[in-house]
Amino acid sequence: MQIYVDNAATTKMSDVAINAMIPYMKECYGNPSSLYTIGQKAMEALTDARERVAKVLGCEPREILFTSGGSEADNQALMSAAALGEKNGKKHIISTAFEHHAILHTLKKLEKMGFEVELLDVHENGLVTPEQVAAAIRPDTCLVTIMYANNEIGTIQPIREIGAVCREKKVLFHTDAVQAVGHIPVNVKDDNIDMLSLSAHKFHGPKGCGVLYFRKGIRLTNIIEGGAQERGKRAGTENVPGIMSMTAALEDAVAHIDTNKDHLLAMRDRLIDGILEIPHSILNGDRTSRLPGNVNICFEGIEGESLLLLLDDKGISASSGSACTSGSLDPSHVLLAIGRPHEVAHGSLRLSLSDDITAEEVDYIIASVKEVVELLRGISPVWRDLMAGKKEFHI
Ligand SMILES: *Cc1c(COP(=O)(O)O)cnc(C)c1O
Repeated sequence: MQIYVDNAATTKMSDVAINAMIPYMKECYGNPSSLYTIGQKAMEALTDARERVAKVLGCEPREILFTSGGSEADNQALMSAAALGEKNGKKHIISTAFEHHAILHTLKKLEKMGFEVELLDVHENGLVTPEQVAAAIRPDTCLVTIMYANNEIGTIQPIREIGAVCREKKVLFHTDAVQAVGHIPVNVKDDNIDMLSLSAHKFHGPKGCGVLYFRKGIRLTNIIEGGAQERGKRAGTENVPGIMSMTAALEDAVAHIDTNKDHLLAMRDRLIDGILEIPHSILNGDRTSRLPGNVNICFEGIEGESLLLLLDDKGISASSGSACTSGSLDPSHVLLAIGRPHEVAHGSLRLSLSDDITAEEVDYIIASVKEVVELLRGISPVWRDLMAGKKEFHI
């Protein structure tokens, strides 16, 4: 069996997304800035895509900026808010310890530029509260940036309430919604969001394509200088095939959120319950305020990397957490942020499902994980010490 359960890292493109792309490579390949017909056709397509994306998010077309993906959108949102803050003498930024590196590394850069960054603690259940945000906001706060849903442990933050707190205190609110859009309902107006990042390849669209939503009136700072594309806010010939494909994938994903939800939740919960039968294992992140396709579990006494390799031998493509940290020996900053000790954080497994997962596949994954964990514990000196009482169990 071959089972891909790393959809939080990236997804397979859907036929809908692939088909939407082809005409803009084969026929309508003009440069949208050109004046002749095939250029203007491409420009019309872009206008159409902008309207359709805006409709899905609940905003106006002019509030949509097309980018090269989630990372670029995150960078531009933060750099823009910081520039606006600096102009008003406000240099305090609030975020959390478990953001994606596109946020955390941009915040590091802003710190070097003289901004004060405050990272809120995340509770053991993987959630931050609106009360924490309210308590942290100061007169010199220029930005709150908190992710909609976490890419490793899948927890969904109370974004609407956090947005309301920011509105009331007149502080800009950005959310990295890369894991949320297309998977759970998101509406920028209802959710009180000023800026939002999304990425096409997380909802069966193409890689290298994303969106920054910015509420009208917010002046963006350019990250990429050059031509006057995207009303002068993002230079570079527009990725028309990617944008058309992303738009189709977005509409398709959002249209199926409701219809697929029950199946996906049932599969997720079957997987969680099955794997938690393994002794000394624990679910990371809140059980209910959680993406419908996310499972993240730690096992005492094993190394996540060896677990992944052995699962790969069984045809299962999974992850230990973020794609960006795999290959490094540091445990996940997300698991450390929710208070898992280093030893436990090392033994993590993330399974992120797509809608087409079957019960048969879920049962195969459960059986495989059980077998592999038992095998690894059998050869683990740490596990031997734990069993002999020479070390204390954490979980
Ligand atoms: C994948 C991801 C990103 C980065 O998006 P890219 O399009 O790959 O640049 C940012 N934030 C989160 C939460 C993600 O999951």
